[in-house]
Amino acid sequence: MSRIESIELYLVQTPLPAPFSPAWVVGGTRSSSAYYLIRLRTDDGVEGFSAFTAMGRERAGIGDFLAHAFLGKDPTDIDHVLEMLRVPGYGGLRNFWIEPAFWDIKGKLAGQPVYRLLGGEPTPLRLYASSGEVKDVGARIDECWARHEEGFSTLKVRVHDFDERVDIRQIQEPAEALRGKLKLAVDCNQAFWHTANGPGPKWDLARAKRFCDAAYEADLAWVEEPLFMEWYDQMAELRAYSRVDVSGGELHTCGFPELKYMVEKRCYDIFQPDAMWTGGISQTLQVAKLVREAGLKFTGHSWSNGIGFAVNMHVLLASGFASEMEYEYPLSPPGWTAEARDSILTEPWRHDRGTLQPPTLPGLGFEIDEAALAHYGRCFFKANRTVRSWMPESLHDLSIPTTPVPREG
Ligand SMILES: [Mg+2]
Repeated sequence: MSRIESIELYLVQTPLPAPFSPAWVVGGTRSSSAYYLIRLRTDDGVEGFSAFTAMGRERAGIGDFLAHAFLGKDPTDIDHVLEMLRVPGYGGLRNFWIEPAFWDIKGKLAGQPVYRLLGGEPTPLRLYASSGEVKDVGARIDECWARHEEGFSTLKVRVHDFDERVDIRQIQEPAEALRGKLKLAVDCNQAFWHTANGPGPKWDLARAKRFCDAAYEADLAWVEEPLFMEWYDQMAELRAYSRVDVSGGELHTCGFPELKYMVEKRCYDIFQPDAMWTGGISQTLQVAKLVREAGLKFTGHSWSNGIGFAVNMHVLLASGFASEMEYEYPLSPPGWTAEARDSILTEPWRHDRGTLQPPTLPGLGFEIDEAALAHYGRCFFKANRTVRSWMPESLHDLSIPTTPVPREG
């Protein structure tokens, strides 16, 4: 039996090619993508990786717990992994994002992609392009044409204005301009409120109903997160009211029990949990099973980094929904591109005319570019079965490398 021999934690910051202003952080502009990376290694040399969005240095101290919980343990015992990952959650720090690193090892030990290990078929994935920024109508129509020409059949846009008439115009006019060419969906990003500079718009049920009416009339594919994530009763009322599918579920960090409750209440037509937040691969697949039994729809949320994209792709491929639902492909140039999103992977997840072939490599299906990781990442914790090393000084300098990673040849 393989055992966990070592654990490393990194903070990675990769520069974006242009400033990026995510619709879900009002007033905020990013120049980099920041995330934590975990590298597990077994005593027979198999490595497993996972990664999770970093807000600052909030996970600087998690290494000691991980060393205590996992060194010397069987990496294929996922039930034990989840039991242990729950423990720091009782203190407020949810870490289900680490579970996929164990699946990565489990797949590599079995010589199979994780979705195959979980019974999924190698179904080519149809992708929808997921824009990340609010734009005025003219810029949005230009973007729609660009995605259409690249081969996408659906683009998800963002709205986030105080004036609901502006939001409605931002879906109506592009939908009309691209009618018959490109289907639109819309993400309202009302599930959580995160502002970097001044207040942001906060919708109530009445506004959400009016917006769903407008989205239906504009023939949109779905309306995503039009209400705050804990308003379960109002979500269920809106879903029953709306003539267009209502979707959401990406950040429900309590995992399976919370999403089970939401499926039972029929809060959404389309459940879009992100395994990195919603309980790892195992719990998110349990959600997919309940969604199927309830006659609702399921797909993945993937807006984080190239590893989060991979993990949720395996979930979708194993869920039974891969041939029915489009998968989110974050793409919001010039700031958010596949190369920037996936810059520590040897190969970015590039689409081909809006489709993606499932990975064939064992495990989660990507390889880490060690030169890129050394350039953009700072290791802040290392442990093996005899030595632990916490390196807080590596977190003091949070400046982002501005030069590209040196490449051989
Ligand atoms: Mg979303």
